[in-house]
Amino acid sequence: MPQLDPEELKAGVDEAHKIPLKTCAHSQSLEGTRISVAAGIDSVEHGVSLDDGVIEEMLKREVFLVPTLSAPFNIMAQGVQAGIPVEYVEKTRQVNDAHVEALNRARKAGVRIAAGTDAGTPFNLHGQNANELVLLVENGFSAAEALACATSRAAELLDLEDILGSISPGKQADFLIVDGNPLADIRILTDQNRIWNVFKGGVES
Ligand SMILES: [Zn+2]
Repeated sequence: MPQLDPEELKAGVDEAHKIPLKTCAHSQSLEGTRISVAAGIDSVEHGVSLDDGVIEEMLKREVFLVPTLSAPFNIMAQGVQAGIPVEYVEKTRQVNDAHVEALNRARKAGVRIAAGTDAGTPFNLHGQNANELVLLVENGFSAAEALACATSRAAELLDLEDILGSISPGKQADFLIVDGNPLADIRILTDQNRIWNVFKGGVES
């Protein structure tokens, strides 16, 4: 259920935008997302439930969706036997199909989608970000789309597309050299043995 009234949310978003800062809503419910989008939020994290009306508003207002498939995936994969409360696991199973359906409806409508993991939920750790790309591909995205979600689209969401997110003259050269073609098999990116070099700002790290 939404935890802020529309007026409260709008006040927060308006103040952030004056600085200017980006705003994101951690929103699963349709009503929460609707209120957030109407308040001028820049991105919706999770977005488990979306209807055509809110998708239309997201398109109109250029709101990003960060679907965070890693969060439900890890809860379902590890389960109660790993110590996750049974209520979490059951709720996740119940809403997962709706989440994937909403994501693909947004994708087909043209909503801009950036990759993010919601790291901090059970067994969802920083450093495992590449698995989000695998999950996107397993749930309807092409490998090229998934890569864009984690690079050029993510840079757009952060207003850093002038320096990050793609390789072109004048930009900061952050890139990987991998053993294989991630467009043919996105899983390569999750295997550290197949990541040969990491360059940050043009310097091998
Ligand atoms: Zn979350």
